Amino acid sequence: MTPHCTRCGAPAVYLRRYTSERLCVSCLVSTTLNRVRRTINRHRMLRPDDRIAVAVSGGKDSAVLLDVLCRIEEKFPRAELVPFTVDEGIRGYRDAAIDCAKALVMGHGLTLRVFSFEELFGITLDTLVARRPPHALGACSYCGVLRRRAMNHAATVLQADVVATGHIMDDETQTVLMNLLRGDPYRIARNYRPRSRPVPGLVSRVKPIMELSERDVVAYAHHLSLSYHSFPCPYAAEAYRSDVRRFLNHMEHRHPGTMLAVLHSAESIAAALNASSPNMSVLRCERCGAPTSVSVCKVCSILDSIRSW
Ligand code: SF4
Ligand SMILES: [Zn+2]
Ligand SMILES: [Zn+2]
Repeated sequence: MTPHCTRCGAPAVYLRRYTSERLCVSCLVSTTLNRVRRTINRHRMLRPDDRIAVAVSGGKDSAVLLDVLCRIEEKFPRAELVPFTVDEGIRGYRDAAIDCAKALVMGHGLTLRVFSFEELFGITLDTLVARRPPHALGACSYCGVLRRRAMNHAATVLQADVVATGHIMDDETQTVLMNLLRGDPYRIARNYRPRSRPVPGLVSRVKPIMELSERDVVAYAHHLSLSYHSFPCPYAAEAYRSDVRRFLNHMEHRHPGTMLAVLHSAESIAAALNASSPNMSVLRCERCGAPTSVSVCKVCSILDSIRSW
């Protein structure tokens, strides 16, 4: 027998485990939008007249982010969405994803701006990885630092008030747990810095879909036939994150709601730490002037190492 939607009685297509709701397509969409609206309002992520730079990677998470924001922002005519992609230069992977991102963005009547590592840092990730000596860090360590800088650059060029990224509950809880396991709760505080306390020189970043699970996102993208690229990055091999992911998925399966609880705990930790150190000192990189916590920022250090390889 076909199960029925807990909300309206129509045939259900999705079981949202952590709320125990069976949902039809229409209720999947409406509850997803309500969830994201609640997240945005609770954290005061967006303002009615924001110019929002939306990071679109071509993958499913940012496809859902863009679709949801387009629907929510319909009611805010003064708000503007400006999608962009960071092209790290990963042949056969990012170029295919960018084609998907372009199709998705065009479907919303918008234009995609692309910012590449090559143009910004003079090197693609492929070249960096190929030149990297054996003792060097994993590709993701370089990519993450350079991508954050590229996103800030993109937001500045696009004259955006805020950058929205497609981080979902699974990514966020993994990062929170990794920071705790590595003994770095201050990183959690930095990650959840409220928009009301911006760092000079950094465009605020918000994560409107961080309370949607991977299952939610897959269901939404599938039932709305969103265009997205689903191949994994050839350099994705962060063993520590994979262990944490396995553990959290196991806990979520056995105890639905675990991930949401981790996320809410992280918000409380961040609020307490941010309140106890209201003036976290921010330095300026002595080379490039970007905000940093040490005298030479991570981007300049990476670019120095590459020159010495
Ligand atoms: S998996 Fe790692 S190398 Fe690949 S895009 Fe993500 S951060 Fe960059
Ligand atoms: Zn329904
Ligand atoms: Zn620098």
